[in-house]
Amino acid sequence: ENKDQKFVYDFTEGNKDLKDLLGGKGANLAEMTNLGLPVPPGFTITTEACKVYLESGTEPVALRDEVSAHLDALEQKMGKKLGQADNPLLVSVRSGAKFSMPGMMDTVLNIGLSDKSVEGLAQQADNERFAWDSYRRLIQMFGKTVLGVDGELFEEALEAAKHTKKVTSDTDLDAADLKKLVKQFKKIVKAETGRDFPQDPREQMDLAIKAVFDSWNGDRAKLYRRQERIPHDLGTAVNVCSMVFGNLGPDSGTGVAFTRDPASGHQGVYGDYLQNAQGEDVVAGIRNTVPLADLEQIDKKSYDQLMEIMSTLETHYKDLCDIEFTIERGQLWMLQTRVGKRTAGAAFRIATQLVDQGLIDEAEALQRVNGAQLAQLMFPRFDESSKAELIGRGIAASPGAAVGKAVFDSYTAVKWSRSGEKVILIRRETNPDDLDGMIAAEGILTSRGGKTSHAAVVARGMGKTCVCGAEELEVDTKRRRMTTASGTVIEEGDVVSVDGSTGKVYLGEVPVVPSPVVEYFEGRMHAGADDADELVAAVHRIMAYADRVRRLRVRANADNAEDALRARRFGAQGIGLCRTEHMFLGERREMVEKLILADTDEERDEALAALLPQQKQDFIELFEAMDGLPVTVRLLDPPLHEFLPDITELSVRVALAEAREDSNENDLRLLQAVHRLHEQNPMLGLRGVRLGLVIPGLFTMQVRAIAEAAAERKNAKGDPRAEIMIPLVGTVQELEIVREDAEKVIAEVEAATGVELKLALGTMIELPRAAVTAGQIAEAAEFFSFGTNDLTQTVWGFSRDDVEASFFTAYLEKGIFGVSPFETIDKEGVGSLVRSAVQAGRATRPDIKLGVCGEHGGDPESVHFFHEVGLDYVSCSPFRIPVARLEAGRAAA
Ligand code: ADP
Ligand code: MG
Ligand code: MG
Repeated sequence: ENKDQKFVYDFTEGNKDLKDLLGGKGANLAEMTNLGLPVPPGFTITTEACKVYLESGTEPVALRDEVSAHLDALEQKMGKKLGQADNPLLVSVRSGAKFSMPGMMDTVLNIGLSDKSVEGLAQQADNERFAWDSYRRLIQMFGKTVLGVDGELFEEALEAAKHTKKVTSDTDLDAADLKKLVKQFKKIVKAETGRDFPQDPREQMDLAIKAVFDSWNGDRAKLYRRQERIPHDLGTAVNVCSMVFGNLGPDSGTGVAFTRDPASGHQGVYGDYLQNAQGEDVVAGIRNTVPLADLEQIDKKSYDQLMEIMSTLETHYKDLCDIEFTIERGQLWMLQTRVGKRTAGAAFRIATQLVDQGLIDEAEALQRVNGAQLAQLMFPRFDESSKAELIGRGIAASPGAAVGKAVFDSYTAVKWSRSGEKVILIRRETNPDDLDGMIAAEGILTSRGGKTSHAAVVARGMGKTCVCGAEELEVDTKRRRMTTASGTVIEEGDVVSVDGSTGKVYLGEVPVVPSPVVEYFEGRMHAGADDADELVAAVHRIMAYADRVRRLRVRANADNAEDALRARRFGAQGIGLCRTEHMFLGERREMVEKLILADTDEERDEALAALLPQQKQDFIELFEAMDGLPVTVRLLDPPLHEFLPDITELSVRVALAEAREDSNENDLRLLQAVHRLHEQNPMLGLRGVRLGLVIPGLFTMQVRAIAEAAAERKNAKGDPRAEIMIPLVGTVQELEIVREDAEKVIAEVEAATGVELKLALGTMIELPRAAVTAGQIAEAAEFFSFGTNDLTQTVWGFSRDDVEASFFTAYLEKGIFGVSPFETIDKEGVGSLVRSAVQAGRATRPDIKLGVCGEHGGDPESVHFFHEVGLDYVSCSPFRIPVARLEAGRAAA
């Protein structure tokens, strides 16, 4: 605790950029005060004071005096003293962290009221009912949030009072009723806490401040921070704000407003207003609010002033703001503002609207949107005009729109999906045993668990639609059914629709429509065609800004011409990874078997010769689809056993045949091969460059196919730009051998065809040893492509296939990971190897081309990292290309 530290700031002293110190609410109250807007005077206790309290268990020594000094000043300004009997100053004590957090104490209004000052307030306002209404609210809020009394007890007493009087609205209770209620409330406090409701106003205020500090470490607040990755040591600020009253009669009221529509971005009058009400009444839904536009009729002067203030705020914050206001007897007061939340679509629209209004420039517009929002806009969606019955709502854990038959266990999910049914796997919560079912299902629905639950983590990893924690749905796995809040029973086999983007669950089949944004990227819809395409027009413009400023190029991971063409439509500037193993499957599997089973050189050469023309044709098509753009072809990477039949199936077949005494020679050889090639840890076994070095002719066949395809494309006046990539290299010696062989083959093809090829040869950097010796490896490599999937596995020492569903949930819950390192690159570990390999590679070969082709290439945060370390390009799946383009632009802007 520093002696000169200042723990309290008057609203006139702060500003909007001091959110760390004053919290969001305090910083913006100060900003509005300094803009000259009507904010009730007050002061903010800093997050620093809270931190001292949380660390030491007591408030900083200086705090009490500082609060006293600010309270004195406030009393002077207002011309009345806190809780003074005849003319009391009342205040609210409001929590306000940097990020608003459910589960924290929010606000206690009307602090300073006591048995004495309530009479003073009644006289001063000439309104007895109002004074007693305010007092009962204080005891209720203070009792609940500061003293920890069960809020239900107060609610019940209030309900009983209305019931006795046979009225439905709290406004129908008169002063006498409220006086009685206050008595009851005080009794409840005494009975529940063993002490009287504090009558000393300063004690009320101090207790409330302490309660705000304490609420930072409430269970729900902690849980929320963990889920949202908000650091636990930020602390919260506390705002003390002089009260203004919306509950003084029909000429008073309270409301909320947005400077534009948070759903569409359109400018207009958006908000709700409630006459004769205080604080939370508007959002609590206890009485019917009126649309903000109606305020014009109710109180034209305040309405006009509010409109003017909203436009001031928008111009000042240069963004959509949301607002809380109160009108006290015709006088408008601003109680809160902040840059408002908005839907993904509105974010794009608003960003371009603000550019058109000249409020922000294109670089700023790029910061107002992000890749996650764009990804959300690209998912297919449920047709909004559908009348399907909403049966529940949970956490939107993994976006998408999934429709299928309800199943309540993994076994059924797998069985039904094998027979061609679409299923939704519904569980109370999932565990690693459910993995098969999750893979088989269209979507996953759970009634328990949050954003880091097993279901959520695994579903996001698989890109599968998931809604979790839909608590009002009661899942009964034993009886294979679920019951909704309204009692509807959904049996196994009933169709449900799950919206992973909104968390909504529907009964029956909701029709799905493709996203207009994807239609646009596919070239089936044109920007600016008509009014319905406003969103598409905004996306079009933002993408153009991003493309203009980005330095990173974006390529696609694509293995065939069809994917390549789609990737091109989505803006790919080449292929960063073509996996040749996919070309060895299907009908060609038999040829690969022949290669693996070959006993003699002749047999092997025969098998390779059969594969060559097929491979060549693949590449011709691919080079044609990507004409004029680079295509990086990776030579065969996976362990060979992946091309052989399943060991159990084969063993059974052989055993059965033996029993029948008609053994098949080929099956026997196959089985031997399967045994021979069996590995304990295939991921670390015979794969990648190792295959090329021990299976004579394999890599050279692939190189020949690439070279001949390129020559043929050139002869056809095409512009093939093939790059040959060697996987899983750990040392430069491996690469040198492959390179020598490859160069020979390329020279042969050049001689035979008379075409000059200029094929680049490079390597993946996906083993720690390769990263560490990148300087040497660069001597034999014209390019590096960081294979961050394998690099993550090998740096951490865990296999992705095995661990994501087992201990990742625990790691996320314990906060060891903020996010899976397979989703966002681990900057300190894996990232630092990438960084040093980039430097070493460039030191050896200044013009070396550097890219990344792991899943991370399409992850927003990772893209920023790759920009920062100076890669030339990222490569990702075709569908993620727009996201990568946008984020590369945001990183550069
Ligand atoms: P939250 O963060 O939950 O919105 P707030 O501190 O904004 O909590 O307060 C809750 C409600 O009480 C809001 O409607 C707010 O406008 C109202 N309120 C807060 N302080 C005052 C005050 N000094 N005078 C009148 N109403 C207030
Ligand atoms: Mg508020
Ligand atoms: Mg790899």
